Amino acid sequence: MTKWLTLSLIPLVALTGFVACDDSTQVSAPPDGGAPDAAASFDVLANPPTPAATAVGRGGAAATVDVRATLAAIEILKRGGNAIDASVAAAAVLGVTDPFSCGIGGGGFMVIYLAKENRFVTIDHREKAPKAQTPSLFYPGGQRLDTNEIIASGLSVGVPGTLRGWEEALRRYGKKTLGEVMQPGIFVAEHGFVVDSTFVDQTKRNQARFQRVSSARKLYLTDAGEPHAVGDLFKNPELGATYRKIAEGGTRVFYEGEVGQKIVDAVRQPPEANPPLRAGVMTMEDLANYDARVRLPVESTYRGHTVIGMPAPSSGGMTLAETLNILTPFSANGDRELHLHRYIEASRLAFADRNAYDGDPEYVDVPMQGMLSMGFADSRRAVITDKAGTGSAKAGNPYAFQSDPSPSGPPAQTPALDTSPGGATRETTHITVTDSEGNIVSYTFTIEFEGGSSIVVPGLGFLLNNELTDFDIPTDPNAKAANILEPGKRPRSSMTPTLIFKDGKPRIAVGSPGGSTIITTVGQTLINYFDFNMPLAQALAEPRVSERNIVVTPGTDTKSTAEPAFINSDIGAALKARGHQFVETAEIGAATGIQFNDDGTVTAVAEPVRRGGGSAMVVSP
Ligand code: GLU
Repeated sequence: MTKWLTLSLIPLVALTGFVACDDSTQVSAPPDGGAPDAAASFDVLANPPTPAATAVGRGGAAATVDVRATLAAIEILKRGGNAIDASVAAAAVLGVTDPFSCGIGGGGFMVIYLAKENRFVTIDHREKAPKAQTPSLFYPGGQRLDTNEIIASGLSVGVPGTLRGWEEALRRYGKKTLGEVMQPGIFVAEHGFVVDSTFVDQTKRNQARFQRVSSARKLYLTDAGEPHAVGDLFKNPELGATYRKIAEGGTRVFYEGEVGQKIVDAVRQPPEANPPLRAGVMTMEDLANYDARVRLPVESTYRGHTVIGMPAPSSGGMTLAETLNILTPFSANGDRELHLHRYIEASRLAFADRNAYDGDPEYVDVPMQGMLSMGFADSRRAVITDKAGTGSAKAGNPYAFQSDPSPSGPPAQTPALDTSPGGATRETTHITVTDSEGNIVSYTFTIEFEGGSSIVVPGLGFLLNNELTDFDIPTDPNAKAANILEPGKRPRSSMTPTLIFKDGKPRIAVGSPGGSTIITTVGQTLINYFDFNMPLAQALAEPRVSERNIVVTPGTDTKSTAEPAFINSDIGAALKARGHQFVETAEIGAATGIQFNDDGTVTAVAEPVRRGGGSAMVVSP
């Protein structure tokens, strides 16, 4: 009852909020000629400044991959919103401008620092498998479906969590309503934005997939079936209208109303496609029952700092913590190559453990205490030598380090099922925001693959996720694993929104996209910062390597994915001499972060080059 009442108040606030708190802006009529339009007060988003990768100042800051999203966050901060409000505003804009990576059709993880209460909290709004989704659906006639058939299908669509996450974050910790913070997104969707080369490249990589599905073709390709050109003004009025419905009617429109019904229809009877897409089994009940989860973060220590990360069902926080725990007694001592060798080895071991034990904690008994213990890290470190490890690293035994071992004991040892060689890693997006009160949000959200399931919900202007591909889907339908699909379960994630504190004060907030390379992007950035004494901007721009215990060809050694500048450096050559092998990829991740400086200023940081470069801004430069 309370929930219903709260939501029913949104329309009034949505229509009046910004009129009241910003006298300086002209508020014009909305497209339908009705009451004054709050979205129009964000007309500053029509002409954003040239993006800068770093910004130093006070009063709050934001960094994202897109200048309009960063600007929306800064505008919300200037209009009295806090970091939580601003991060949701930025996210709603990214749903428009970065639509192949994120949006209301997906899910995510938010790590929040609440300054006044001096505490951390996380909001898990990861997608869930529908209730009727049994693993057998991936194995018709006992045979595993081809991966590409799963990727683009109603069967891979998880129940979206994004809006529930935004709602929970704002209701608990925000100052503004969902209706208010969605206005910048409405403005950008309706007014349009100038297409850049990143958007074009993303469309090109998805051209065949979008060509196949009528609703995606209609939204993202021209009549000639081509991507839009750099410099075109791209409008998404259908998404604008969807956002308006949600802003005015609350999340009920999505989880129990007309938007939800269209999502369910698109999953169960996918839009016309050639060849047709397999249907999924999501129901309105699945949507109505979707809940975000407020979870305590994973907390660990590195170089005297507190590392705050995302707990299961993301493997991000735990895998990062284990990697850093393994590295703890090793000092970089000016020998970068040796330290990177040890970092790569630590990451390999931590990924072996992640693959074996991490999953949805509501379904799997994740041995968190053992995995996070220094005793376990000691046992893992003991296998590291001065040469690269060979073969595939086997998982360790964290159960020996649990004070109260689970009665169920260790699960049957499972092989690492993540065998993707790690090619393009451009999916997902990360938002980092802080405000004048000292609150911080580190927020990663996604629709999984670049272009998600390739199903645009007809008439609604957004892509549905294919997050259920994050479950292990082994060839053997009877294989057991922590991350095997079960009805209602959340697939394991790698998203790693992270906060670093020292003596109770913030030092860094950081996160990145990039599938399972997210964990190593955040890890390497922290190693650069802590062990190689780089400021965050440099730490984040450095060439990357990502070791995830992936054996590309069975029976051979694992290979690290790495950027050309890393492989071709002196360090890359020296690592090869130690036995490390690399698979080259053009770029890994597209991180953003904020560094908290000793003089009270903050430095907001975005990628200078990767994914076309991001945008960092502060409220008062
Ligand atoms: N689905 C991925 C995860 O949750 C994120 C998507 C990506 O960046 O590839 O780990």
